[in-house]
Amino acid sequence: MQIIPISLPTPFYIGPVNVYLIGEDPITLIDTGPKTKSANEALHEGLRKARIRVSDIRRIVLTHAHEDHCGLARSLRDEAKDAEVLVHAWENGHRVGRLEYEEHRNLLVRAGVPPDEIETMRKMYEGVRQYADSFEDHEYGELRDEAELEFETGTLRIVHTPGHTPGSCSFVREADRTVIAGDCVLKRITPNPVLSPDPIDPSKRFPSLAEYLVSLARLRTFAPTLVHGGHGEPVHDFEELFNRYFRAIRERQAEVIRLLPKTGATAWDVAGQMLPVADDVHRFLAVSEAVAHLDLAHSEAKIAVEFSDSKEVYLPKSGH
Ligand SMILES: [Zn+2]
Ligand SMILES: [Zn+2]
Repeated sequence: MQIIPISLPTPFYIGPVNVYLIGEDPITLIDTGPKTKSANEALHEGLRKARIRVSDIRRIVLTHAHEDHCGLARSLRDEAKDAEVLVHAWENGHRVGRLEYEEHRNLLVRAGVPPDEIETMRKMYEGVRQYADSFEDHEYGELRDEAELEFETGTLRIVHTPGHTPGSCSFVREADRTVIAGDCVLKRITPNPVLSPDPIDPSKRFPSLAEYLVSLARLRTFAPTLVHGGHGEPVHDFEELFNRYFRAIRERQAEVIRLLPKTGATAWDVAGQMLPVADDVHRFLAVSEAVAHLDLAHSEAKIAVEFSDSKEVYLPKSGH
């Protein structure tokens, strides 16, 4: 069972995205690239080189529902004459824009993002959304943790690896400990724990960074020999990456705690200090990152939090 990577251009800052073709029955594509003409052409070219026609695709599996990964899912499904589309149930960004959720707005308010900035972020996402078609509930099947995707000559185990998004999944071929990890494992950058409502209780925030650490530890139990990420080159030394990520996360946490003045600060204040010149997209990602680190530090009892004016104000604890 051969895993064939295909690199596709994206209009996003992150650069090209990797999608993966399993060219044996049932022919399966893991991720699709964004809905752009150039990604679509590059994908068709990649499939042609592998001697696969779009009409041969039976299964479209999504690591998560970010536009650069899921954008072409609907048009490919239609072109393949009703291939099955599979995604984890906690991944609902592909149905409606993330910032259209009232819950999501509330998360930004709680993080201390000013109303005009929330409006700017919403507009920005209107722009990003054009790179993916939305799906209705009945249009996709569910990826379930621990289930297996079977192929003619092997299987891929579905491993739910939340963190970057609540419904992110990885796929493990245990025979040679190869992993397809989407944006859970990226060689050159630590993935952003994107601010999301909790899929079980949308009035709460998903504990993205705490979940992410658990996901990394879970992947580690497979002792991966090769990890294919959503962007960039594959990772051959997972152990090195695992340790580097943990170090980076701990260093970032220490920085976030250091940035808290005695009078307290919101996640928005902290984000502004971490990345003072960030543009629109990066301001949202910086808020996500600040919230994630503050949440984790709070859950580890390293800082305190108080509600003030429907905003969360984080305070250093004495001794820190
Ligand atoms: Zn992503
Ligand atoms: Zn991505």
